[in-house]
Amino acid sequence: MGFFCKEEKARKMVAFEGPIIVGAGPSGLATSACLKKHGISSLILERSDCIASLWQQKTYDRLKLHLPKKFCELPLMEFPEDYPKYPSKKQFISYMESYATHFNLSPKFNQEVESAEFDEEIMSWRLKIKGDEVFEYVSKWVIVATGENAEPLIPEIQGVEKFQGKLIHTSLYKSGNEFRNQRVLVIGCGNSGMEVCLDLSRYNAMPYMVVRNSVHVLPREMFGFSTFGVAMTLLKWFPLRLVDQVLLLVANLTLGNTDRLGLRRPKAGPIELKNATGKTPVLDCGALSLIKSGKIKVTEGVKEITKNGAKFIDGQEKEFDSIILATGYKSNVPYWLKNCEFFSDDGMPKVAFPNGWKGGKGLYTVGFTKKGLLGTASDAVKVAKDIADQWRRPIKDHNENLYS
Ligand SMILES: Cc1cc2nc3c(=O)[nH]c(=O)nc-3n(C[C@H](O)[C@H](O)[C@H](O)COP(=O)(O)OP(=O)(O)OC[C@H]3O[C@@H](n4cnc5c(N)ncnc54)[C@H](O)[C@@H]3O)c2cc1C
Repeated sequence: MGFFCKEEKARKMVAFEGPIIVGAGPSGLATSACLKKHGISSLILERSDCIASLWQQKTYDRLKLHLPKKFCELPLMEFPEDYPKYPSKKQFISYMESYATHFNLSPKFNQEVESAEFDEEIMSWRLKIKGDEVFEYVSKWVIVATGENAEPLIPEIQGVEKFQGKLIHTSLYKSGNEFRNQRVLVIGCGNSGMEVCLDLSRYNAMPYMVVRNSVHVLPREMFGFSTFGVAMTLLKWFPLRLVDQVLLLVANLTLGNTDRLGLRRPKAGPIELKNATGKTPVLDCGALSLIKSGKIKVTEGVKEITKNGAKFIDGQEKEFDSIILATGYKSNVPYWLKNCEFFSDDGMPKVAFPNGWKGGKGLYTVGFTKKGLLGTASDAVKVAKDIADQWRRPIKDHNENLYS
């Protein structure tokens, strides 16, 4: 399968002729499938024990795709026709599993890449796996597909260590079942924060949602069409600012004035803000009506966590049984990709979409676009084509390059 070994000091170099992909999420699988279409085998290294581990292990039961399925499809294989417009988490995982089976993709599991570094001497990438002192992988190409959401983002909050109740990040939240009849403080008001609050109230818990900054809430659908789809269509014809104004006009007509509910809108429009900061507008799936009816309470920012609850910046203090951090995720690339100028400190490529997929010296990225699965599909196709163009050169040249 294209492996060959060479002894070097204590570690054996296991060179792979094709590209090595780090991560077996949608991005890694999509890229491997696209490479296969060009006749190129890749090696996928995955730290967990399954494909799409974010979806399988770190998401809540209620989760459905936020965007309609046609915007979340991976290249070369459509969603099953009988799937609903917004597939459930289970359906999405099942689609991913069929995708891996269809393209005969077999990632190597329990392989956490601890470091990847370009070796100028052999003109290749060397990848070390956590806990493996014997081998290291070598390839001309490394494809970073570890995701924008690799690690939970845990903010520093004063006093958090004093809290005696349960405190978890949303990556560990499964359902409101274990929070029945509890007062729960949910810190964060993005899509996850809103959905967790909605889920909690369905289980008779009392969620308090912290809204520290401003947030755009939009209806998930406008006139029977997905808001995302409407925005994409309008953007083909009209300038961004005008499209933002239309979205906000319809949002105000259908949802009412969200400022009055404590959900202040940012000055920049939803698409302008997304493009500038990557901050995704919340697509309302029902939480807003619960905020209006008082079943979900909106609170000011937290000043300090106490033994039994929290103090807020408006001076109020409340008791809570549990705290859920809906504070998002971050990329982990800076931890393992060494001496690489292509990524910035936040683990995102310095060059923005659509040009952030190619780093030079055989480095590629897939899925760091702030555009969800749509960005993944776009990157995967480009990366595979670019590598295929190089692959057509005689194999002899590859090996000479590798050890010259
Ligand atoms: C709650 C939630 C809902 C979402 N809903 C949508 C949606 O509806 N539509 C949409 O387009 N997007 C959605 N997203 C964004 C979503 O994360 C991505 O679209 C998709 O999962 C990205 O795929 P990925 O393969 O790039 O990253 P991931 O799915 O995060 O996969 C990366 C993989 O890399 C592995 N990995 C990480 N570090 C290492 C390492 N050092 N060594 C080896 N393996 C490693 C991880 O274990 C993981 O399996 C959602 C995200 C969340 C959190």
